[in-house]
Amino acid sequence: MEEQTRSIVQQSLNALLENENFLTDLKGGMRQKAFTSLNSILSTPNQIHKSFLRVPLEGGEVVRIPSYRVHHNDALGPYKGGIRFHETVNEEEVVNLAFLMTLKNALHNVPFGGGKGGIMINPKDFSEKELHKICIKYVRYFNNVIGPDKDIPAPDVGSGEREMDWMMAEYKKINQGSPYLGSFTGKSVENGGSLGRREATGKGVYFTFRYLLNNYVKDNQATFATTTNPFAKTALEYVNRELTVAVQGFGNVGSVTALEAYRCAHIQNKVVAVSDRNVTLFNADGLDIPALVEFTAKNKGDLPTSEDQLTAAGIAATIQGREDILTMDVDVLFLAALENQLNDQNKTQIKARIIVEGANAPTTREADDYLSEKGVVIIPDILANAGGVIVSYLEWLQGRETQFFSEEEVYNQLLAKMRNTMDTLLPQYFGDTFSLRQNCYIHSVTRLSTVLYRQGKLY
Ligand code: NAD
Repeated sequence: MEEQTRSIVQQSLNALLENENFLTDLKGGMRQKAFTSLNSILSTPNQIHKSFLRVPLEGGEVVRIPSYRVHHNDALGPYKGGIRFHETVNEEEVVNLAFLMTLKNALHNVPFGGGKGGIMINPKDFSEKELHKICIKYVRYFNNVIGPDKDIPAPDVGSGEREMDWMMAEYKKINQGSPYLGSFTGKSVENGGSLGRREATGKGVYFTFRYLLNNYVKDNQATFATTTNPFAKTALEYVNRELTVAVQGFGNVGSVTALEAYRCAHIQNKVVAVSDRNVTLFNADGLDIPALVEFTAKNKGDLPTSEDQLTAAGIAATIQGREDILTMDVDVLFLAALENQLNDQNKTQIKARIIVEGANAPTTREADDYLSEKGVVIIPDILANAGGVIVSYLEWLQGRETQFFSEEEVYNQLLAKMRNTMDTLLPQYFGDTFSLRQNCYIHSVTRLSTVLYRQGKLY
């Protein structure tokens, strides 16, 4: 997975090396040397912090839990990235996620670097009291490397505002007298969080899709009529008609994305399938997404898994296998669960022609190359799922000034930033044969390279 990110960065650097209008002062051997430095800086993290949290459980047993905080790059500002609570968390995964954060922040011009954390547990195996202890221990063990101007964690898979509230409280206790509101983002609104943060990623994910199709492609229909660009041709087929939508993952990101699609007044969407770690639910006439959100809120985040549960909740759907959603005959597939979901094994069976990556790294290199070759429009993770970090930045700013924005102000700023990035990228994407992911990487790497050069880091 990490290899995949590295190789696209290398590709982007190769393209920039050939571009004589980029860093024009650097010529000949100097240029070659600077680009070699750039590659080694961007493809390796600055630091990897690892600890085994020692946590006494309620039954008296003491466990040691592998935990990570990775600092990838801070050329653009303090490290920033979520803490994943999942039983498969490992060092390689956290390094790759931190790498993606560096690229994502550079892409959207957010003044943060890239970081990420992970705790190797299935949170559902622990009581609330035990989870509280785990959060406290994480802050104690990593206190020296986090902080409002050093590294600002946030929620990720398996964590949310409850965990961020606990962690910030511990940070405040340890660092008495120091500013603390900016130490964690994704906190509850009552505890200094931003209005709109919880929904920000899912709203942003849906927005990138809507903006690409309903604004950019629709507005350029006349120009696109004679295009030979494979992605423009695909996108054109989906303008001005009802679309069937499937959403993999029904947590923080997936449930909000599904709700946005369900409620969207600009595009006729029918959300025919959603899935989670247990099941896929399908209804050709469209699922009742608000009812499913209500159900998950009362059932520890899980979708209904039996006919009885569906009937009791008044939801019409058939139950299918967890992976079935990936190969369903739908127009648009939103991926909002985990990485490596579209891969070498299932790539030839994917039917959706528009894929939006709410999750980080849900498509492997093999699947990405195969689908892009076939003209499938893929809106990549670092473009689509940046809503969380953009609103985290707003939360961090609000915490520093103790002045808070209204929900409307937050959304306006979020969408303006995402629109700005899309307006920079889309003309290039629909004008050349690079995938949108390659275009995003070139853009991020250009920004990072320029800053690293100006900071004198390439000698
Ligand atoms: P979450 O824990 O709230 O939800 C994860 C969802 O995925 C749950 O519905 C879970 O049941 C489901 N799931 C887990 N394993 C699965 C499997 N094997 N197959 C299908 N579904 C499975 O997590 P989240 O915060 O919604 O994050 C989802 C993805 O979005 C992750 O890749 C995360 O890194 C990325 N992301 C999250 C944010 C954020 O603000 N929360 C921001 C950017 C990116």
